[in-house]
Amino acid sequence: MSASTANHARKLRKAARVILVGPPGAGKGTQSGRLLEHFRLSAISSGDILRENIRNRTPLGMQAESVMRGGGLINDAVMVKLIVGELSKRGWVESRPTTTSGITVTGALEIMGHTSAAKTARLAASNCPSSSFLLDGFPRTVTQAESLDKEVDMNFVVNLNVPRDVILDRIANRMVHEPSGRVYNNTWNPPQVPGYDDVTGEKLTKRADDCPETFAKRLKSYDKSTAPLLEYYDKTGLLWTVSGKSSDEITPQLDAEIFRRFG
Ligand code: AMP
Repeated sequence: MSASTANHARKLRKAARVILVGPPGAGKGTQSGRLLEHFRLSAISSGDILRENIRNRTPLGMQAESVMRGGGLINDAVMVKLIVGELSKRGWVESRPTTTSGITVTGALEIMGHTSAAKTARLAASNCPSSSFLLDGFPRTVTQAESLDKEVDMNFVVNLNVPRDVILDRIANRMVHEPSGRVYNNTWNPPQVPGYDDVTGEKLTKRADDCPETFAKRLKSYDKSTAPLLEYYDKTGLLWTVSGKSSDEITPQLDAEIFRRFG
């Protein structure tokens, strides 16, 4: 974050625990980067973590690679373990100490009927505004959402609603700097030097799963698995939908809503 951006970041009074939902290419990465700067939110991108695992040739990465190339979704249990582990590592949820019987402390409290005590224990690490965070790309299915609910009370779910023709055009022109997750678009948001990252000067690449055939599959799997997620969060009252044809149209609306709820 540049010094000038840091000076202009707006302070939140309440902890924001935000989930960004939207089809691939809706600009989740772009919005997440902007929220990070505007409110000093930290973010976890499930796709970025998976791609990092692929780059580092970890067992998870090797397992995920072919699924991602095929435009499918990684197994729910694997994803939950990965993201909840990451949340614990960053201190955003209880670090899951276990009792002698091997269950977590909050789990034990819940079994004993102390649901509110369990909730308090879970939130202890994350109620301060500086622990505000955002999840980009997780949860993607109702099963993932239910598992996340057991660990942490998320308090805002943003549905990015972008027309399909805009998404298709955007993906055709998308270039990424994989190590940082920075995203460029040759039409809307071109790099200063074509083909190279503005910050590091390294070469930009095309994501392997952005080719037209794989992308069509990703959109299909989004509709199948993620649309029910919106229904799920609508029922819990957390869902807020923002519409726009460009990220620049969406950002001011999203900023204003975050500030209205948490500022
Ligand atoms: P993204 O960068 O969010 O578009 O994710 C890229 C790919 O990573 C997806 O097409 C999936 O194959 C995989 N992926 C990312 N997040 C998840 C998730 N929460 N559940 C299952 N698969 C995921």
